[in-house]
Amino acid sequence: MRYISTRGKAPALDFEEVLLTGLATDGGLYVPETLPRYTPEELMALRGLPYDELACRVMFPFVEGSIPESDFRAMVRETYAGFTHRAVAPMVQLDANEWVMELFRGPTLAFKDFALQLLGRLLDYFLEKRNQHVVILGATSGDTGSAAIEGCRHSSHVDIFILHPHERVSEVQRRQMTTVHSDNVHNIAVTGNFDDCQKMVKASFGDQSFLGGKTSLVAVNSINWARIMAQIVYYIYASLALGGPHRSLAFSVPTGNFGDIFAGYLAREMGLPIQQLVVATNQNDILHRFISQNQYEPGKLQHTLSPSMDITISSNFERLLFDLYGRDSSGVVDFLEAASHGAVQLEETRWQGARKLFDSFSVNDQRTCEVIGEVYGETGYLLDPHTAIGVESARRCRRDVTVPMVTMGTAHPAKFPEAVSRSGVGVEASLPDHLSDLLEREERFTVLNNDLAEIQDFMARNWKFAED
Ligand SMILES: *Cc1c(COP(=O)(O)O)cnc(C)c1O
Repeated sequence: MRYISTRGKAPALDFEEVLLTGLATDGGLYVPETLPRYTPEELMALRGLPYDELACRVMFPFVEGSIPESDFRAMVRETYAGFTHRAVAPMVQLDANEWVMELFRGPTLAFKDFALQLLGRLLDYFLEKRNQHVVILGATSGDTGSAAIEGCRHSSHVDIFILHPHERVSEVQRRQMTTVHSDNVHNIAVTGNFDDCQKMVKASFGDQSFLGGKTSLVAVNSINWARIMAQIVYYIYASLALGGPHRSLAFSVPTGNFGDIFAGYLAREMGLPIQQLVVATNQNDILHRFISQNQYEPGKLQHTLSPSMDITISSNFERLLFDLYGRDSSGVVDFLEAASHGAVQLEETRWQGARKLFDSFSVNDQRTCEVIGEVYGETGYLLDPHTAIGVESARRCRRDVTVPMVTMGTAHPAKFPEAVSRSGVGVEASLPDHLSDLLEREERFTVLNNDLAEIQDFMARNWKFAED
Protein backbone atom coordinates (compact mmCIF):
# COMPACT_ATOMS: atom_id res chain seq x y z
CA MET A 1 0.00 0.00 0.00
CA ARG A 2 1.21 3.50 -0.87
CA TYR A 3 0.35 6.62 1.11
CA ILE A 4 0.00 10.16 -0.21
CA SER A 5 -0.03 13.53 1.54
CA THR A 6 -3.20 15.63 1.84
CA ARG A 7 -1.16 18.64 0.68
CA GLY A 8 0.17 17.00 -2.46
CA LYS A 9 3.81 18.08 -2.27
CA ALA A 10 5.46 15.29 -0.28
CA PRO A 11 6.67 11.98 -1.75
CA ALA A 12 4.38 8.94 -1.58
CA LEU A 13 5.58 6.49 1.08
CA ASP A 14 5.01 2.86 2.06
CA PHE A 15 3.56 1.79 5.41
CA GLU A 16 6.88 1.40 7.20
CA GLU A 17 7.96 4.92 6.22
CA VAL A 18 4.60 6.41 7.13
CA LEU A 19 4.71 4.76 10.55
CA LEU A 20 8.11 6.30 11.26
CA THR A 21 7.29 9.72 9.83
CA GLY A 22 4.24 11.36 11.37
CA LEU A 23 3.66 14.63 9.54
CA ALA A 24 4.48 14.74 5.81
CA THR A 25 7.30 17.08 4.72
CA ASP A 26 4.74 19.45 3.14
CA GLY A 27 2.90 19.75 6.46
CA GLY A 28 0.10 17.42 5.34
CA LEU A 29 -1.14 14.10 6.69
CA TYR A 30 -0.69 10.76 5.00
CA VAL A 31 -3.72 8.85 3.68
CA PRO A 32 -3.90 5.60 1.69
CA GLU A 33 -3.65 6.13 -2.06
CA THR A 34 -6.60 3.76 -2.54
CA LEU A 35 -8.85 2.02 -0.04
CA PRO A 36 -9.63 -1.69 -0.02
CA ARG A 37 -13.35 -2.13 -0.73
CA TYR A 38 -15.63 -4.92 0.45
CA THR A 39 -18.66 -6.35 -1.29
CA PRO A 40 -21.54 -7.46 0.98
CA GLU A 41 -20.48 -11.08 0.31
CA GLU A 42 -16.95 -10.35 1.47
CA LEU A 43 -18.29 -8.70 4.63
CA MET A 44 -20.56 -11.73 5.22
CA ALA A 45 -17.48 -13.92 5.18
CA LEU A 46 -16.02 -11.90 8.07
CA ARG A 47 -19.00 -12.46 10.37
CA GLY A 48 -18.32 -14.33 13.58
CA LEU A 49 -14.54 -13.98 13.49
CA PRO A 50 -12.79 -13.33 16.81
CA TYR A 51 -11.63 -9.72 17.17
CA ASP A 52 -7.94 -10.41 16.57
CA GLU A 53 -8.60 -12.41 13.42
CA LEU A 54 -10.90 -9.72 12.04
CA ALA A 55 -8.24 -7.14 12.87
CA CYS A 56 -5.60 -9.07 10.89
CA ARG A 57 -7.80 -9.38 7.84
CA VAL A 58 -8.99 -5.77 7.85
CA MET A 59 -5.58 -4.22 8.47
CA PHE A 60 -3.35 -6.43 6.38
CA PRO A 61 -4.01 -4.65 3.03
CA PHE A 62 -2.77 -1.43 4.66
CA VAL A 63 0.58 -2.93 5.68
CA GLU A 64 1.04 -5.28 2.75
CA GLY A 65 4.44 -4.98 1.16
CA SER A 66 6.04 -3.80 4.40
CA ILE A 67 5.53 -6.83 6.63
CA PRO A 68 4.86 -10.54 5.98
CA GLU A 69 1.36 -11.67 6.95
CA SER A 70 2.54 -14.23 9.51
CA ASP A 71 4.60 -11.66 11.41
CA PHE A 72 1.74 -9.19 11.34
CA ARG A 73 -0.74 -11.81 12.54
CA ALA A 74 1.47 -12.70 15.51
CA MET A 75 1.73 -9.05 16.51
CA VAL A 76 -2.01 -8.42 16.25
CA ARG A 77 -2.79 -11.55 18.29
CA GLU A 78 -0.44 -10.46 21.04
CA THR A 79 -1.88 -6.93 21.02
CA TYR A 80 -5.48 -7.92 21.66
CA ALA A 81 -4.62 -10.81 23.98
CA GLY A 82 -3.67 -8.07 26.45
CA PHE A 83 -7.25 -6.78 26.65
CA THR A 84 -9.29 -7.81 29.67
CA HIS A 85 -12.59 -8.80 28.01
CA ARG A 86 -12.77 -11.90 25.87
CA ALA A 87 -14.76 -10.04 23.22
CA VAL A 88 -12.07 -7.29 23.25
CA ALA A 89 -14.69 -4.64 22.32
CA PRO A 90 -17.92 -5.82 24.01
CA MET A 91 -21.25 -4.05 23.52
CA VAL A 92 -23.70 -3.10 26.26
CA GLN A 93 -27.33 -2.39 25.47
CA LEU A 94 -28.80 0.78 27.01
CA ASP A 95 -32.20 0.84 25.34
CA ALA A 96 -34.08 -0.57 22.35
CA ASN A 97 -31.66 -0.41 19.44
CA GLU A 98 -29.16 1.59 21.46
CA TRP A 99 -25.70 0.34 22.48
CA VAL A 100 -22.39 1.41 23.97
CA MET A 101 -19.32 -0.29 22.53
CA GLU A 102 -16.79 -0.56 25.36
CA LEU A 103 -13.45 0.41 23.91
CA PHE A 104 -11.78 0.71 27.31
CA ARG A 105 -10.82 -2.87 28.07
CA GLY A 106 -7.16 -2.32 27.25
CA PRO A 107 -4.32 -1.69 29.74
CA THR A 108 -4.90 2.08 30.19
CA LEU A 109 -8.73 2.04 30.07
CA ALA A 110 -9.25 4.25 27.01
CA PHE A 111 -9.82 3.45 23.34
CA LYS A 112 -6.33 4.68 22.46
CA ASP A 113 -4.97 1.30 23.55
CA PHE A 114 -6.49 -0.29 20.43
CA ALA A 115 -4.00 1.56 18.28
CA LEU A 116 -1.09 2.31 20.57
CA GLN A 117 -0.68 -1.27 21.81
CA LEU A 118 -0.19 -2.26 18.19
CA LEU A 119 1.84 0.79 17.23
CA GLY A 120 4.46 0.03 19.90
CA ARG A 121 4.89 -3.49 18.52
CA LEU A 122 5.05 -2.30 14.92
CA LEU A 123 7.70 0.29 15.78
CA ASP A 124 9.82 -2.28 17.57
CA TYR A 125 9.50 -4.71 14.66
CA PHE A 126 10.71 -2.24 12.03
CA LEU A 127 13.40 -0.68 14.23
CA GLU A 128 14.82 -4.11 15.05
CA LYS A 129 15.03 -4.87 11.34
CA ARG A 130 16.71 -1.53 10.64
CA ASN A 131 18.86 -1.67 13.77
CA GLN A 132 17.70 1.85 14.48
CA HIS A 133 16.64 3.82 17.56
CA VAL A 134 13.97 6.51 17.85
CA VAL A 135 12.72 8.90 20.49
CA ILE A 136 8.99 9.28 20.93
CA LEU A 137 8.07 12.71 22.15
CA GLY A 138 4.54 13.73 23.04
CA ALA A 139 2.53 16.10 25.18
CA THR A 140 -0.52 14.88 26.99
CA SER A 141 -3.45 16.31 28.85
CA GLY A 142 -4.80 12.89 29.57
CA ASP A 143 -5.08 9.56 27.82
CA THR A 144 -2.54 9.67 25.02
CA GLY A 145 0.47 9.75 27.32
CA SER A 146 -0.39 6.67 29.32
CA ALA A 147 -1.50 4.68 26.27
CA ALA A 148 1.72 5.55 24.42
CA ILE A 149 3.86 4.66 27.44
CA GLU A 150 2.08 1.31 27.86
CA GLY A 151 2.51 0.66 24.17
CA CYS A 152 6.28 1.28 24.17
CA ARG A 153 7.49 0.34 27.65
CA HIS A 154 8.98 -2.95 26.45
CA SER A 155 10.61 -1.61 23.33
CA SER A 156 14.40 -1.70 23.36
CA HIS A 157 14.60 0.56 20.32
CA VAL A 158 12.49 3.39 21.66
CA ASP A 159 12.89 5.99 24.37
CA ILE A 160 9.66 7.74 25.20
CA PHE A 161 9.43 11.22 26.72
CA ILE A 162 5.98 12.46 27.70
CA LEU A 163 5.40 16.02 28.86
CA HIS A 164 2.42 16.71 31.07
CA PRO A 165 1.44 19.99 32.73
CA HIS A 166 2.62 19.79 36.36
CA GLU A 167 -0.29 19.39 38.80
CA ARG A 168 -2.86 19.78 36.03
CA VAL A 169 -3.70 16.20 35.08
CA SER A 170 -5.92 14.00 37.21
CA GLU A 171 -4.25 11.73 39.74
CA VAL A 172 -5.37 8.53 38.01
CA GLN A 173 -4.11 9.76 34.65
CA ARG A 174 -0.79 10.94 36.08
CA ARG A 175 -0.20 7.71 37.97
CA GLN A 176 -0.94 5.63 34.88
CA MET A 177 2.13 7.30 33.37
CA THR A 178 4.43 7.82 36.33
CA THR A 179 4.18 4.35 37.89
CA VAL A 180 5.59 2.63 34.81
CA HIS A 181 9.17 1.88 35.79
CA SER A 182 10.96 1.04 32.56
CA ASP A 183 14.35 2.53 31.76
CA ASN A 184 13.09 3.84 28.43
CA VAL A 185 10.11 5.73 29.92
CA HIS A 186 10.69 9.36 30.90
CA ASN A 187 7.89 11.43 32.41
CA ILE A 188 8.41 15.16 32.55
CA ALA A 189 6.08 17.41 34.54
CA VAL A 190 6.35 20.87 33.05
CA THR A 191 5.60 23.93 35.18
CA GLY A 192 3.22 25.29 32.56
CA ASN A 193 -0.05 24.35 30.88
CA PHE A 194 -0.85 21.84 28.15
CA ASP A 195 -0.38 24.40 25.38
CA ASP A 196 3.14 25.14 26.67
CA CYS A 197 3.93 21.41 26.53
CA GLN A 198 2.57 21.10 23.02
CA LYS A 199 4.52 24.12 21.80
CA MET A 200 7.77 22.59 23.01
CA VAL A 201 6.95 19.30 21.31
CA LYS A 202 6.26 21.11 18.04
CA ALA A 203 9.47 23.14 18.29
CA SER A 204 11.48 19.97 18.96
CA PHE A 205 10.09 18.23 15.88
CA GLY A 206 10.95 21.30 13.83
CA ASP A 207 14.61 21.28 14.88
CA GLN A 208 15.97 17.97 16.15
CA SER A 209 19.61 19.04 16.31
CA PHE A 210 19.57 18.77 20.13
CA LEU A 211 19.61 14.99 19.69
CA GLY A 212 23.02 15.18 18.04
CA GLY A 213 21.90 13.42 14.84
CA LYS A 214 22.08 9.98 16.50
CA THR A 215 18.38 9.33 16.87
CA SER A 216 15.19 10.94 15.57
CA LEU A 217 11.75 11.85 16.82
CA VAL A 218 8.57 9.92 16.07
CA ALA A 219 5.03 11.18 16.69
CA VAL A 220 2.41 8.95 18.28
CA ASN A 221 -0.53 11.32 18.27
CA SER A 222 -3.35 10.62 15.88
CA ILE A 223 -1.62 12.22 12.91
CA ASN A 224 0.16 8.85 12.77
CA TRP A 225 -1.70 6.77 10.19
CA ALA A 226 -1.24 3.50 12.08
CA ARG A 227 -3.57 4.79 14.76
CA ILE A 228 -6.42 5.42 12.33
CA MET A 229 -5.90 2.04 10.70
CA ALA A 230 -6.33 0.10 13.93
CA GLN A 231 -9.55 1.97 14.73
CA ILE A 232 -11.33 0.95 11.52
CA VAL A 233 -11.61 -2.61 12.79
CA TYR A 234 -14.07 -2.06 15.62
CA TYR A 235 -16.61 -0.31 13.40
CA ILE A 236 -16.71 -3.43 11.25
CA TYR A 237 -16.86 -5.64 14.36
CA ALA A 238 -19.87 -3.68 15.67
CA SER A 239 -21.67 -3.80 12.36
CA LEU A 240 -21.22 -7.54 11.87
CA ALA A 241 -22.42 -8.18 15.42
CA LEU A 242 -25.62 -6.16 14.88
CA GLY A 243 -26.78 -7.51 11.54
CA GLY A 244 -24.34 -6.06 9.02
CA PRO A 245 -23.81 -6.04 6.14
CA HIS A 246 -27.57 -6.37 5.55
CA ARG A 247 -28.46 -3.74 8.10
CA SER A 248 -27.22 -0.17 8.34
CA LEU A 249 -25.82 1.25 11.58
CA ALA A 250 -25.38 4.68 13.16
CA PHE A 251 -22.42 5.60 15.39
CA SER A 252 -21.96 8.43 17.86
CA VAL A 253 -18.32 9.19 18.57
CA PRO A 254 -16.92 11.39 21.38
CA THR A 255 -14.59 13.53 19.33
CA GLY A 256 -11.49 15.61 19.88
CA ASN A 257 -8.86 15.26 17.19
CA PHE A 258 -11.31 13.54 14.80
CA GLY A 259 -9.16 10.39 14.64
CA ASP A 260 -11.68 7.90 15.97
CA ILE A 261 -14.63 9.10 13.92
CA PHE A 262 -12.48 9.42 10.81
CA ALA A 263 -11.82 5.68 11.11
CA GLY A 264 -15.61 5.19 11.02
CA TYR A 265 -15.82 7.30 7.90
CA LEU A 266 -13.17 5.12 6.27
CA ALA A 267 -15.01 1.93 7.25
CA ARG A 268 -18.00 3.29 5.35
CA GLU A 269 -15.84 4.19 2.36
CA MET A 270 -14.64 0.59 2.43
CA GLY A 271 -18.19 -0.65 1.97
CA LEU A 272 -19.59 -0.96 5.50
CA PRO A 273 -23.24 0.17 5.59
CA ILE A 274 -23.22 3.18 7.94
CA GLN A 275 -26.20 5.50 7.77
CA GLN A 276 -25.04 8.20 10.14
CA LEU A 277 -21.97 9.36 12.08
CA VAL A 278 -22.55 11.73 14.99
CA VAL A 279 -19.67 14.02 15.95
CA ALA A 280 -20.07 14.42 19.73
CA THR A 281 -18.10 17.30 21.24
CA ASN A 282 -17.82 19.10 24.57
CA GLN A 283 -17.73 22.92 24.82
CA ASN A 284 -14.72 22.88 22.50
CA ASP A 285 -17.10 22.72 19.59
CA ILE A 286 -15.30 23.79 16.41
CA LEU A 287 -16.42 20.62 14.65
CA HIS A 288 -20.00 20.98 15.83
CA ARG A 289 -20.10 24.51 14.44
CA PHE A 290 -18.69 23.27 11.16
CA ILE A 291 -21.09 20.33 10.76
CA SER A 292 -24.20 22.19 11.91
CA GLN A 293 -23.57 25.66 10.42
CA ASN A 294 -20.73 25.32 7.91
CA GLN A 295 -18.58 27.63 9.97
CA TYR A 296 -14.96 26.68 10.61
CA GLU A 297 -13.25 28.89 13.17
CA PRO A 298 -11.04 27.86 16.09
CA GLY A 299 -12.32 29.04 19.47
CA LYS A 300 -10.52 29.55 22.75
CA LEU A 301 -9.46 26.40 24.61
CA GLN A 302 -11.83 25.50 27.44
CA HIS A 303 -10.96 23.05 30.19
CA THR A 304 -13.81 20.63 30.72
CA LEU A 305 -14.70 17.47 32.62
CA SER A 306 -13.89 15.54 29.42
CA PRO A 307 -10.24 16.63 29.05
CA SER A 308 -9.39 14.20 26.27
CA MET A 309 -11.64 16.20 23.96
CA ASP A 310 -10.28 19.62 24.91
CA ILE A 311 -8.93 20.88 21.60
CA THR A 312 -9.20 24.01 19.49
CA ILE A 313 -8.27 22.41 16.15
CA SER A 314 -8.79 18.77 15.13
CA SER A 315 -5.78 17.66 13.16
CA ASN A 316 -7.47 14.71 11.44
CA PHE A 317 -10.19 16.92 10.03
CA GLU A 318 -7.69 17.65 7.26
CA ARG A 319 -7.97 14.04 6.14
CA LEU A 320 -11.74 14.43 5.69
CA LEU A 321 -11.31 17.79 3.96
CA PHE A 322 -9.05 16.10 1.42
CA ASP A 323 -11.93 13.79 0.46
CA LEU A 324 -14.52 16.59 0.57
CA TYR A 325 -12.35 18.35 -2.03
CA GLY A 326 -12.41 15.24 -4.21
CA ARG A 327 -8.80 14.51 -3.18
CA ASP A 328 -7.60 17.78 -4.65
CA SER A 329 -4.84 18.99 -2.33
CA SER A 330 -4.94 22.57 -3.61
CA GLY A 331 -8.47 22.88 -2.18
CA VAL A 332 -7.19 21.68 1.21
CA VAL A 333 -4.24 24.05 1.18
CA ASP A 334 -6.44 27.05 0.26
CA PHE A 335 -9.04 26.20 2.92
CA LEU A 336 -6.44 25.88 5.68
CA GLU A 337 -4.66 29.02 4.57
CA ALA A 338 -7.94 30.96 4.72
CA ALA A 339 -8.73 29.38 8.11
CA SER A 340 -5.47 30.69 9.55
CA HIS A 341 -6.84 34.23 9.04
CA GLY A 342 -10.38 33.81 10.34
CA ALA A 343 -13.69 32.00 9.94
CA VAL A 344 -14.13 30.02 6.70
CA GLN A 345 -16.92 28.13 4.98
CA LEU A 346 -16.84 25.23 2.60
CA GLU A 347 -18.66 25.53 -0.74
CA GLU A 348 -22.31 24.68 -0.07
CA THR A 349 -22.36 21.51 -2.22
CA ARG A 350 -19.26 20.06 -0.57
CA TRP A 351 -20.64 20.83 2.89
CA GLN A 352 -23.99 19.24 1.94
CA GLY A 353 -22.00 16.20 0.87
CA ALA A 354 -20.58 15.91 4.40
CA ARG A 355 -24.01 16.51 5.94
CA LYS A 356 -25.44 13.43 4.23
CA LEU A 357 -23.40 11.32 6.64
CA PHE A 358 -22.42 13.54 9.59
CA ASP A 359 -24.50 15.12 12.33
CA SER A 360 -23.08 16.81 15.40
CA PHE A 361 -23.87 17.98 18.90
CA SER A 362 -22.08 19.81 21.72
CA VAL A 363 -22.62 19.00 25.41
CA ASN A 364 -21.46 21.18 28.32
CA ASP A 365 -20.13 19.99 31.68
CA GLN A 366 -23.38 20.39 33.54
CA ARG A 367 -25.36 18.37 31.01
CA THR A 368 -22.57 15.75 30.89
CA CYS A 369 -23.01 15.14 34.62
CA GLU A 370 -26.80 15.03 34.27
CA VAL A 371 -26.54 12.40 31.54
CA ILE A 372 -24.24 10.24 33.68
CA GLY A 373 -26.92 10.46 36.37
CA GLU A 374 -29.86 9.81 34.04
CA VAL A 375 -28.32 6.80 32.33
CA TYR A 376 -27.27 5.35 35.68
CA GLY A 377 -30.84 5.84 36.90
CA GLU A 378 -32.35 4.20 33.80
CA THR A 379 -30.00 1.26 33.52
CA GLY A 380 -27.52 1.07 36.42
CA TYR A 381 -24.74 1.54 33.89
CA LEU A 382 -22.05 4.07 34.73
CA LEU A 383 -20.71 6.21 31.87
CA ASP A 384 -17.45 8.13 31.82
CA PRO A 385 -17.89 11.83 30.86
CA HIS A 386 -16.64 11.38 27.28
CA THR A 387 -19.00 8.51 26.61
CA ALA A 388 -21.84 10.43 28.27
CA ILE A 389 -21.35 13.18 25.68
CA GLY A 390 -21.55 10.49 23.01
CA VAL A 391 -24.79 9.05 24.38
CA GLU A 392 -26.45 12.46 24.70
CA SER A 393 -25.42 13.42 21.16
CA ALA A 394 -26.67 10.08 19.82
CA ARG A 395 -30.08 10.67 21.37
CA ARG A 396 -30.32 14.27 20.14
CA CYS A 397 -29.22 13.58 16.58
CA ARG A 398 -30.78 10.23 15.87
CA ARG A 399 -32.37 10.09 12.41
CA ASP A 400 -34.10 6.72 12.47
CA VAL A 401 -34.94 4.68 15.56
CA THR A 402 -35.08 1.46 13.56
CA VAL A 403 -31.36 1.80 12.80
CA PRO A 404 -29.17 0.55 15.66
CA MET A 405 -27.21 3.38 17.29
CA VAL A 406 -23.83 2.55 18.78
CA THR A 407 -22.01 5.09 20.97
CA MET A 408 -18.29 4.56 21.23
CA GLY A 409 -17.43 4.10 24.92
CA THR A 410 -14.05 5.76 24.82
CA ALA A 411 -12.98 5.53 28.47
CA HIS A 412 -13.67 3.69 31.71
CA PRO A 413 -15.51 5.80 34.33
CA ALA A 414 -12.83 5.08 36.98
CA LYS A 415 -10.46 7.29 35.00
CA PHE A 416 -12.64 10.33 35.62
CA PRO A 417 -13.85 10.18 39.22
CA GLU A 418 -14.56 13.93 39.39
CA ALA A 419 -17.28 13.88 36.75
CA VAL A 420 -18.76 10.70 38.20
CA SER A 421 -18.89 12.20 41.66
CA ARG A 422 -20.37 15.50 40.41
CA SER A 423 -23.11 13.56 38.64
CA GLY A 424 -24.47 12.66 42.07
CA VAL A 425 -24.99 8.97 41.31
CA GLY A 426 -23.65 8.16 44.77
CA VAL A 427 -21.41 5.33 43.57
CA GLU A 428 -17.79 5.25 42.52
CA ALA A 429 -16.36 3.32 39.64
CA SER A 430 -13.58 1.07 40.87
CA LEU A 431 -10.42 0.46 38.94
CA PRO A 432 -10.14 -2.97 37.31
CA ASP A 433 -7.94 -5.58 39.01
CA HIS A 434 -4.75 -4.86 37.10
CA LEU A 435 -4.82 -1.26 38.34
CA SER A 436 -6.42 -1.72 41.76
CA ASP A 437 -3.22 -0.74 43.62
CA LEU A 438 -2.47 2.21 41.30
CA LEU A 439 -2.85 4.78 44.06
CA GLU A 440 -0.22 3.04 46.20
CA ARG A 441 2.41 2.51 43.50
CA GLU A 442 5.65 4.46 43.54
CA GLU A 443 5.73 7.37 41.09
CA ARG A 444 8.69 8.51 39.03
CA PHE A 445 8.80 11.78 37.18
CA THR A 446 11.01 14.83 36.80
CA VAL A 447 9.70 18.35 37.25
CA LEU A 448 11.26 20.78 34.78
CA ASN A 449 10.72 24.44 34.05
CA ASN A 450 8.63 25.59 31.13
CA ASP A 451 11.79 26.12 29.14
CA LEU A 452 12.62 24.51 25.81
CA ALA A 453 16.40 24.43 26.32
CA GLU A 454 16.05 22.79 29.73
CA ILE A 455 13.74 20.10 28.39
CA GLN A 456 15.82 19.38 25.31
CA ASP A 457 18.94 19.18 27.47
CA PHE A 458 17.19 16.65 29.71
CA MET A 459 16.22 14.54 26.70
CA ALA A 460 19.67 14.72 25.17
CA ARG A 461 21.16 13.41 28.42
CA ASN A 462 18.62 10.69 29.12
CA TRP A 463 17.91 8.71 25.99
CA LYS A 464 19.47 5.26 25.77
CA PHE A 465 22.76 5.91 24.02
CA ALA A 466 23.23 9.46 25.29
CA GLU A 467 26.77 10.23 26.31
CA ASP A 468 26.75 11.95 29.67
C1 LIG B 1 -8.66 10.70 22.72
C2 LIG B 1 -10.02 10.57 23.31
C3 LIG B 1 -11.17 11.05 22.63
C4 LIG B 1 -11.08 11.79 21.31
O1 LIG B 1 -10.69 10.97 20.26
P1 LIG B 1 -10.21 11.62 18.87
O2 LIG B 1 -9.74 10.49 18.05
O3 LIG B 1 -9.07 12.56 19.24
O4 LIG B 1 -11.35 12.34 18.29
C5 LIG B 1 -12.41 10.84 23.22
N1 LIG B 1 -12.53 10.22 24.41
C6 LIG B 1 -11.46 9.76 25.09
C7 LIG B 1 -11.68 9.10 26.39
C8 LIG B 1 -10.17 9.90 24.57
O5 LIG B 1 -9.11 9.45 25.25
